Amino acid sequence: MSDQPATRPQPTPVTVIGLGPMGLALAEALLKNGHPTTVWNRTPEKARDLVARGARLGASVADAVSASPLTVVCLKDYATLYDVLDPAAGALAGRALVNLNSGTPKEAHAAADWAAERGAGYLDGAIMVPPPLVGEPGAVFFYSGPPEVFDAHRATLASMGDPRLLGSDPGLAVLYNTALLGLMYATVNGFLHATALVGSAGVPAAEFADLAVNWFLPTVVDATLVEQAPDLDAGHYPGDLGTLEMNLNALEHITRTCAEQGVHAEQPGLMRAIAARAVAEGHGDSNYLAVFEVFKKAARAA
Ligand code: NAP
Repeated sequence: MSDQPATRPQPTPVTVIGLGPMGLALAEALLKNGHPTTVWNRTPEKARDLVARGARLGASVADAVSASPLTVVCLKDYATLYDVLDPAAGALAGRALVNLNSGTPKEAHAAADWAAERGAGYLDGAIMVPPPLVGEPGAVFFYSGPPEVFDAHRATLASMGDPRLLGSDPGLAVLYNTALLGLMYATVNGFLHATALVGSAGVPAAEFADLAVNWFLPTVVDATLVEQAPDLDAGHYPGDLGTLEMNLNALEHITRTCAEQGVHAEQPGLMRAIAARAVAEGHGDSNYLAVFEVFKKAARAA
């Protein structure tokens, strides 16, 4: 065994295009991890602090892209990606482009085609944490696209967060992202609505929160969602411990209680309408998870 200290590979140069709150956090994390970092932003003043810490401000987008084998883009949306990168399209050939702005799977597919036409390896991505958590342990980043592009740049991507490749379909990262954001908004709204409902009787949110979370996690998340997920794949909704008809009754009580207490009733009203549709489609004797059959289809016109 050699007694020479192991030499670490030199961090790869990387370019960051877009210095909004998120792009700034990405560039900071890359600099902190020792990557020679080139940046570009429409408003160049936003690069001042990064430059003071060792980043180089590209003279143009093409100059910035040319500086590194990998360019990370974090702009407002896909339309802005094309506006900004079109003038630098020639510089992309033979390099990798990682796009971290939000959007839809269709937009991600179009961007992958756009990059392929310009000879660039393309990964689409989604950042699952707010800017202050970028670069911190547990900061999850989703990616989708060719595994060989992901593998070639995994070490650089790991400087921004924990990189997870979801698959080669470029639309998967934004699809997971929108699915999880939908879960987040539905859960937060459910909590806020429940807090408003008990608040109508003077219960403080701080008192209710602890009780709600300690009921919700073991009873709903662990015992129902995690345990019964395989049933969703199998379309198996046994109603022997409680039927959808029974749950429709509970949703009716929530909606009526909201009206009695003078609390917004549209959110439970929508859940009641969805359950009623599942019952109308023949799932009344199944358990509540049979509403999954409704969610898998496009909404019916009113
Ligand atoms: P943002 O407001 O969505 O994007 C700001 C960036 O877009 C800036 O670099 C801005 O340039 C640039 N930009 C906007 N319009 C432009 C145009 N017409 N031409 C050229 N550049 C333009 O802020 P952000 O928070 O940094 O978000 C960036 C992306 O990350 C978004 O897609 C967002 O959904 C996603 N994201 C953000 C968060 C978060 O918590 N912030 C979390 C996850 C994902 P200027 O500086 O010149 O205005």
